[in-house]
Amino acid sequence: MFGKFTIFILAFTFIAFAGCTQRQNQSASIPQKNMKFKQLTPEEERVIVHKGTEVPFTGKYEKFNETGTYICKRCGAPLYRSGDKFDARCGWPSFDDEVPGAVKRIPDADGMRTEIECASCGAHLGHVFLGEGLTPKDTRHCVNSISLDFVPAGSEAQTDTAIFAGGCFWGVEYYMKKINGVISTEVGYTGGKTDHPDYKQVCSGTTGHYEAIEVVFDLHRTSFEEVAKMFFETHDPTEWNHQGPDWGEQYRSAVFYKTAEQKAITKKLIRLLKEKGYKVVTEVLPAKTFWKAEDYHQDYYDHKGATPYCHGYVKRF
Ligand SMILES: [Zn+2]
Repeated sequence: MFGKFTIFILAFTFIAFAGCTQRQNQSASIPQKNMKFKQLTPEEERVIVHKGTEVPFTGKYEKFNETGTYICKRCGAPLYRSGDKFDARCGWPSFDDEVPGAVKRIPDADGMRTEIECASCGAHLGHVFLGEGLTPKDTRHCVNSISLDFVPAGSEAQTDTAIFAGGCFWGVEYYMKKINGVISTEVGYTGGKTDHPDYKQVCSGTTGHYEAIEVVFDLHRTSFEEVAKMFFETHDPTEWNHQGPDWGEQYRSAVFYKTAEQKAITKKLIRLLKEKGYKVVTEVLPAKTFWKAEDYHQDYYDHKGATPYCHGYVKRF
């Protein structure tokens, strides 16, 4: 029995070393309510998706002077600060600067203007005009109110962090990034014996590390329980020492809790799954140092434009 199992492991270790290849996954997509993108009304969709323009002097934020941050209506990314807003008397909210890196400029289809989009999700915001001399920065982001939401100062994101391991970290990150309320993710290694491990050392199976992901999320929009549920629904928590075709102890399923509350919630979710008949093998361990993986592992599938072969959404709760 043990001998056979060892051969089995050896055979699959070979496949695991081949690394993550791409294959279309057959599983269901993540339910809309858990998706990062907010469901839009038809009018919001007309502007945000189909690049329409709201009627001037009608938008919610045209005459609006509260202190805070304007965020993307669709994905929640911070786009503009109230300190950069000015009254251009053009009928739309105007800003002479953006949150660094938050707004993408592209030539408009009309061949004359410059369109602006949310750099995170591509939502259409409006247009940017230069050289009008309206403010010292000589820039006017002319934005549709309907493309924005507003977060008053003092109520900005309150965040929490969680660490999960569920097989190849490329696939885990692909799905965790899509959760509504997740602000950022990083893949790396944790739970092993050595400091500053690299991918080669971890794949050798001698360091004891898990391929893991660190997730930062907004407590106004989600919770550890919601994020942990998605973790259990986007990898198979019943597979021991492997995930799909990837075999090796670095592919173990584990939740590395940072607080007693995270530990209790994880144990509750595992109990619920066991009551449903799942033979869950996920380990529940105290968080240890999280070592960020090499840059080429970060946002792997987004950069490749591919989808994971070893992970997919399966409703379990
Ligand atoms: Zn966006």
